[in-house]
Amino acid sequence: MNYEIYTLPVIEAFQNKSSCPLCILKNKTETALLKYYLGDSIMNPETRMEVNRCGFCPEHNKKLLAGDNKNGLAIMQNSILLELFPRLKKQAEEIKSTLKRKSLFSKNLQKAKTSLMTSILSRPQNCLICRAMREDEKRYAETAAYLFNKNPDFKKLPGETGFCLPHLAGLLDFSAPAGSAETEYILCLLDCLIKLTEKHLENSGCFIRKFDYRNTDKPWNGAQNALPEITDFLGGNY
Ligand SMILES: [Zn+2]
Ligand SMILES: [Zn+2]
Repeated sequence: MNYEIYTLPVIEAFQNKSSCPLCILKNKTETALLKYYLGDSIMNPETRMEVNRCGFCPEHNKKLLAGDNKNGLAIMQNSILLELFPRLKKQAEEIKSTLKRKSLFSKNLQKAKTSLMTSILSRPQNCLICRAMREDEKRYAETAAYLFNKNPDFKKLPGETGFCLPHLAGLLDFSAPAGSAETEYILCLLDCLIKLTEKHLENSGCFIRKFDYRNTDKPWNGAQNALPEITDFLGGNY
C-alpha cells in the first residue's frame, strides 16, 4: 500500500488531541461518501448499478434523507425500486404458486421464502457507505502504524491521544506496518488502553460522587463531561 497518500490526514487527526483521531477520520470519510452518493454520482450508470444492487443500511438511509439533495435522492430511490420491483414480484409469485401446490414439498416453500428474504435483508448488510468506511479505517490504522516507525515526530502522538476503545482495537489489529517498531507500537497502544480506561473509570466514580449532596462543593477534577466522554470512549464518536 502507498502510505504516503494517507500520511497527512492521519498526522493532522492525531495532532487534534481532544478526540479519537480514527473517529475524526471516520466522520470525514462518511461526510465525503454521503456527499458523493447524493451528488453527480447519481447520474453515473456504474454507481447507480452498484447502489441498486447493494443499497444502504438504515443509519445511512436516514443520513441520505437528511442531506440537501432531495431530487438526487428521489432519482436514486426510483432507480432502486425499478430494479427491485420485478425481482420481488417474481419471488412473491413463486411463494404463491408453491402455496397453491399445497406444499407436499415444504422444502420448496422454505426455499422460495429464503430467496425473497435474502433480496430484502441482504441490502442493509451490504451498505456501500459502511463498506467504504471500513476499508478507509483499515488504511488509516495501517498508516498510523507505518508512521510510528518512519516518522519520529509522529511517534510521541499516540501516547498523547484520546482514543476510543473500538479504534484502539482496530489499531492493534493493524499493527504490522510498524515493521521493526511493531513491539514498541503495541506496547504504546496497550499503555494508552490502560491509561485511558483508568482515567474514564476515575471520572465515572467522581461524577457519581457529585450526586451526593455532601460533595456539592467538591471540585469536579475534570469529570463534569464524564457521561459524553465515556459514551464516546466505549462506542466511538461517529
Ligand atoms: Zn474512535
Ligand atoms: Zn451503512
